[in-house]
Amino acid sequence: ATPMSVMVGVGKAAEAGVLIRNGEALQSASKITTMLLDKTGTITQGQPEVTDISTYDQRQESSVMELVASLESQSEHPLAQAIVDYAKQRNYPLNSVTEFDAITGKGVTGTLNGEHLLFGNEALMREFGIDVSLAVVQAETLANDAKTPMYFAVNQKLSALIAVSDPIKNDSLAAIKRLQNKGIHLVMLTGDNEATAKAVAQRVGIDDYIAQVMPQDKVEEVIKRQKCGEVVGMTGDGINDAPALAQADVGFAIGTGTDVAIESADVTLMRGSLHGLADALAISQATITNIK
Ligand code: ADP
Ligand code: MG
Repeated sequence: ATPMSVMVGVGKAAEAGVLIRNGEALQSASKITTMLLDKTGTITQGQPEVTDISTYDQRQESSVMELVASLESQSEHPLAQAIVDYAKQRNYPLNSVTEFDAITGKGVTGTLNGEHLLFGNEALMREFGIDVSLAVVQAETLANDAKTPMYFAVNQKLSALIAVSDPIKNDSLAAIKRLQNKGIHLVMLTGDNEATAKAVAQRVGIDDYIAQVMPQDKVEEVIKRQKCGEVVGMTGDGINDAPALAQADVGFAIGTGTDVAIESADVTLMRGSLHGLADALAISQATITNIK
């Protein structure tokens, strides 16, 4: 494409709320064969809310949530925010937890009033040798409903199962269909568990997904596909998406996402909608095909 037509393309994209950092990114975008999509905050709204609480010991639901929120108040994870918001809305006191530790991709631990608290996914419970058999059926049911179940244990004993729901953006399904109609292979990436990932992928019509991806492994997924000759796009919003956004042939950041993601990407989707992604690819293809 001529420099002039690229400039026109970049301008058209900007009108559609798609900020393209340079002409090269616009041209590369037309060649994308595989697009990796982050789940949380990209396909979903990224604002999870507590929906279900089941307890497995003598504790009241309110005291469970007080303990879990105290623990999560030290975490910056979106799941932690959902728990803390729940407690704040009900004016539960947040107490200071000592020996706090965040275990990447699994959850959090800490100590409160001499009690050891653990909160996170099944992998975390396995790591600490907690028996979760009482809650696994319920956890599976919640996950099949596209919710994220999290286990809570006190002094090595299962205490509760808490689920959060992060609704799918209402235009994700339609935007994903537009991308698929362009012949692009879509892959959803998430740190979330297998059943939740499957439920979300199914609801938006994506066949290919990878669950339980550790933050540092997203970039490996990009490299792996590039080595197979794919031209790889990556779309994400989070700090943990940044290395993959930088590595991709074209990185697309959700404009409502973190600054780190935006700085690492070639393109920013200002509207926060995946339609912006489909628009970007359409403009890119039009730019390339009109002027060879
Ligand atoms: P993602 O943000 O895509 O879910 P993460 O790697 O951050 O990916 O988290 C993977 C999983 O680890 C989460 O789905 C959750 O089950 C668990 N987890 C991580 N951090 C926390 C936390 N602060 N509280 C509870 N669970 C957590
Ligand atoms: Mg995200």
